[in-house]
Amino acid sequence: MASSQLAGEPIPDDGRLPESAVKRAADKSFHAYLHIPFCSVRCGYCDFNTYTATELQGVSQDEFHQTIISEIQFSALALTKSGIQVPKLKTIFFGGGTPTKLQPSAFSAVLNSLVQNFGFDDNIEITTEANPDDLSERYLEQLAQAGVNRISIGMQSSVDRVLKILDRTHNPEGVAKAVGWAKALGLKTSVDLIYGSPTETLAEWRQSLEAAFELDPGHISAYSLIVEDGTKMARKIKRGELPEPDSDLQADMYELLDELAQQRGYRWYELSNFAKSPDLESAHNIAYWQNQNWWGYGPGAHSHVGGVRWWNKKHPATYSESLRGNVSPGFAREVLDVTTSLEEQILLQSRLRTGLPIATVKQINPEADKVISTLISDGLIEGHQAIQGKLVLSLNGRLLADRVIAALITG
Ligand code: SF4
Repeated sequence: MASSQLAGEPIPDDGRLPESAVKRAADKSFHAYLHIPFCSVRCGYCDFNTYTATELQGVSQDEFHQTIISEIQFSALALTKSGIQVPKLKTIFFGGGTPTKLQPSAFSAVLNSLVQNFGFDDNIEITTEANPDDLSERYLEQLAQAGVNRISIGMQSSVDRVLKILDRTHNPEGVAKAVGWAKALGLKTSVDLIYGSPTETLAEWRQSLEAAFELDPGHISAYSLIVEDGTKMARKIKRGELPEPDSDLQADMYELLDELAQQRGYRWYELSNFAKSPDLESAHNIAYWQNQNWWGYGPGAHSHVGGVRWWNKKHPATYSESLRGNVSPGFAREVLDVTTSLEEQILLQSRLRTGLPIATVKQINPEADKVISTLISDGLIEGHQAIQGKLVLSLNGRLLADRVIAALITG
């Protein structure tokens, strides 16, 4: 069932953006996110906008890519009508849900539509998230032929007991096979992990990390588990069947991640993301953190172009219905004022190893100098970088990033 959606300004039927977006969209790169909202079962911790077969209200998974293509055509027209000329696409990301529920021919059709409407940068990065259980050597080969050049595999843990707590059904051995096939095809590889699940021990987390590094992917993402309201896991915790995740243990787990990553030659470039070299970092995610322009296609997908954010209707049925009627599938939008944009920039860029210009903080916080001095003396940001005008989190700062960001914005 679709849950209630965030309110905002209404979006015109033709998707036209306000005039203010034209100037603000200039000089930004352009990116596409495609949301594929299907999953075989819902994992107990997940609150993503995704649907099992019985929840789709008649939407066909096999034909869904045609609806996405309608939105791609709609977006090209809406941008032209708005007077916004976007550069060639720099990155494309298929996320979900489970994009590997799509046939390779659907990937080809969507990518063809994107290249016809926007063109591709010579060094385009095209990523898909993947459930290891969906992958075979042949399937990956067909994705590579369709143009996918990076694969992000949902490993989460290598420990059966932990996977069970997460309600993940995949076979951990499938991850190693998938990474091997992807590498042999010349695809860039990333492995996604989750740490701090209820009852997961530090030893189990070490085991998962060792297993992930052993696969030698180019990139590793590791996110601490957050228990979202309304999930099966939240209900189990409420009933006392599972303990709450332990935030001190999660901090120890992050420190272990950072230590082992360094030993294995990976470097953090964003709080939760580590790569073996700069060319293996996720260019798509960096674009989000740098607040570039992107169009999010699919139910519930969020977009940002020229200081305007909007979000699509959440359920695949209502989303598809709008596009059938040739009207915007957007639910509502928000035009960001200058202060909100600066706050977002602080929120996003301070997560990056490349850091945030301290001048940005000074634009909204009259106490910036005092705040920065305190953060240096508390050991939360790197003093030598601050002297050069850059705010870069220390290891302790990464553990307390929310506190640092709140101090930067509110003083
Ligand atoms: S596979 Fe991913 S998107 Fe689907 S329910 Fe599980 S965590 Fe959520």
